[in-house]
Amino acid sequence: MERTTAGGLQSLRDANRRLVIQALSGRGVASRAEIARITGLSRSTVSSLVSDLQKTGLIVEREDDAPQSAGVGRPPVRIALSPSAGAAIGIDFGHSHIAVAVGDLSHTVLAERWQQIDVDHLAVEGLDTAAELVCAALEQAGVDRERVVGVGMGLPGPISDEHQTVGSTSILPGWVGVNAADEMSRRLGLPVSVENDANLGALAEYVWGAGRGAPDVAYIKASSGIGAGLVIGGRLHRGVGGTAGEIGHTPYREEGAVCRCGNRGCLETVARTDVITSSVSAGRGRALTIADVVELAERGDPPAQRVIADAGRAIGVGVAGLCNLLNPRRVIVGGELSAAGEVLLGPLRDSLNRYAIPTAASDVTVVAGELGKRAEVMGALALVLSDPSHGVAHELSRATGVLA
Ligand SMILES: [Zn+2]
Repeated sequence: MERTTAGGLQSLRDANRRLVIQALSGRGVASRAEIARITGLSRSTVSSLVSDLQKTGLIVEREDDAPQSAGVGRPPVRIALSPSAGAAIGIDFGHSHIAVAVGDLSHTVLAERWQQIDVDHLAVEGLDTAAELVCAALEQAGVDRERVVGVGMGLPGPISDEHQTVGSTSILPGWVGVNAADEMSRRLGLPVSVENDANLGALAEYVWGAGRGAPDVAYIKASSGIGAGLVIGGRLHRGVGGTAGEIGHTPYREEGAVCRCGNRGCLETVARTDVITSSVSAGRGRALTIADVVELAERGDPPAQRVIADAGRAIGVGVAGLCNLLNPRRVIVGGELSAAGEVLLGPLRDSLNRYAIPTAASDVTVVAGELGKRAEVMGALALVLSDPSHGVAHELSRATGVLA
């Protein structure tokens, strides 16, 4: 056995404390047994570390959060990071709105602010408005800026991993070349990480919504574009350059319409919301929104139902390929089009069952997202809370001096 010095033992204990803090930050509220399972530490080690951290005030017991048990015996005591330990900020830039949320480290949302603005064309105004909303939300939540451990921020376009800039001129024309993380960090005086909207939707549903409890989750954002966010083994999968999950550019019709990516007949060219609204609007004398089309479909309008079903069938072909490759437990469909519910999901499942290999199709459940339009801002919060690089533990140790 390797000889270990007293200093070595102390640093091992500190490293394990960080693991426990990070696991709790990612989970919100959990039992000691769940923490042992997530961290791979033994039950007795976790109990001892939790007891240390309770003495410092960083961890508190949350008996009122215990799940109601029908069986005999006391349910396990659930623990969480203390609400006074710190807070996280989430910012979501949609195409036409900005949303901001402040949450504590036990996953309670303390304040939320929304504002309509033309985000696509006005990067500087958008960043300034978001910074003002953050100030207002912190004040409403009663949280001092010094207690914020990090800021997560979502943009509705591809983010270059290396420079944290927006790469596409067609999706966010006002943002090309803007280093969004640096710009926001300068305005807030806080560390900021940026992620694309489909990845944030995936994280949000995994932490708070329809993906809870599933280790492998694919989130499909069906909106003005079709994107996927992938959580594999509990972690967001970005790929080498941040492009993983571009399911909307799966080839669907060889001779189809030209796509904004330069290819022809991509899945997006039949399933994105503006294609749906323009084909259902034809002959009606006015331009319908996607909410109008969904409402028409609910009332039994045949063209609206048909066009949404066609989109579901097309998305299902892409999802079938995704299931063959990744074999996820759950596929969660979000974005504006998901409001169509079974009109979209039924045909999507038909395609999945037809084109995926039978075992991949039977392993997966396809459900609608639970968080609706809040998915991205909640995902921005989750980006900070479930940061696998131990960002929360690092910030807490800096702020509290509890860890070496
Ligand atoms: Zn394309």
